[in-house]
Amino acid sequence: MTPLEQEIRRLIAIDGPIPVARYMALCLGHPVHGYYRHRDPFGAGGDFVTAPEISQMFGELIGLWAAAVWQQMGTPSPVRLVELGPGRGTLMADALRAAKVLPAFRAALQVDLVETSPHLRQHQQTALEGAGVPLAWHDAIEDVPDGPAIVIANEFVDALPVQQLVRQPRGWHERMVGIDADGRLAFALSPDPLPHIERILPPGLRDAPLGAVFEWRADHLATELGRRAAAGSVALIVDYGHARSAPGETLQALRAHAYADPLDSPGDADLTAHVDFEALGRAAAVAGARIFGPIEQATFLRRLGIAERAAALKQRATEPQRRQIDAALARLTDTVSATAMGRLFKVMAIAPPELAALPAFDNDG
Ligand code: SAH
Repeated sequence: MTPLEQEIRRLIAIDGPIPVARYMALCLGHPVHGYYRHRDPFGAGGDFVTAPEISQMFGELIGLWAAAVWQQMGTPSPVRLVELGPGRGTLMADALRAAKVLPAFRAALQVDLVETSPHLRQHQQTALEGAGVPLAWHDAIEDVPDGPAIVIANEFVDALPVQQLVRQPRGWHERMVGIDADGRLAFALSPDPLPHIERILPPGLRDAPLGAVFEWRADHLATELGRRAAAGSVALIVDYGHARSAPGETLQALRAHAYADPLDSPGDADLTAHVDFEALGRAAAVAGARIFGPIEQATFLRRLGIAERAAALKQRATEPQRRQIDAALARLTDTVSATAMGRLFKVMAIAPPELAALPAFDNDG
């Protein structure tokens, strides 16, 4: 039994079953035993591989996107380039290198990294200390000073806790984590339906069948990004999820590149749930933002010129490197199945209402 499971059992013994969102928050963010506090989840030896770890092209194109957005914002100086959950710092390092094509942008930049893991902060420091831009770390986006900013979040929102609501005859009940008759951690439903559910539930879900599950993420982040957008900032959210709110259960655990039981070994596996982009966009729009997308990752990267970038890189590459570039390009833009990265991953921008267009979103805003 993991140390975190012991602690969760103690909590349940005192208070009764805990909501799934609380369980997820503990698994990922517990100050000592949380997954992101004590593990390096990335790469072949880790639990999953993210787009910036697949290829430098991903971060480079986002760096060029940010430079173009900065021009559309009216070249504010200074400007903050903020990244939420920067992992190993790879995306930011690649983005800053690519942004050298616009020296005035680089010169105006202050980089803010929102990261709770001390271990990953170390990685980020190592990746970025030579970049020649001022760096600062924060625990939460609310701690990043106001002012013009471009915010990037790749595979960040999926790690924010979701609440699971299950349709029953008397209404929607919150799914909880408790202890079953055999003494194991197990899912259970709260005995009473949630009051005031219409505040959370999208209209299309009101008639969902019995047993339907709806995952709801508290909208603090969307509200905060919407507030900043209303004041002139732009945010780019890249993550796996669905464009429209829909019933379905997507809470999953990943360990060593394989799916695992979310209740098994809490704190030792990554726990995520798909992003509901419609809900995210609606919350940001209510706070005053204009929403672009979501569009599929493949569309976003192709419009930014990933094929041309791959061709340019290949010209200076050895044969094995060429094969690697082709494989990375295929993986990032694959749309063959609904779970292929280019299709499952969506890109949304949260922007000031007065911005008429954004690079890569021109046809979808
Ligand atoms: N963006 C990176 C890493 C994705 S993993 C990439 O694409 O490779 C999620 C990242 O978010 C990790 O850096 C993790 O430590 C961080 N993180 C998770 N929950 C967080 C929270 N609540 N606040 C700040 N950072 C968080």
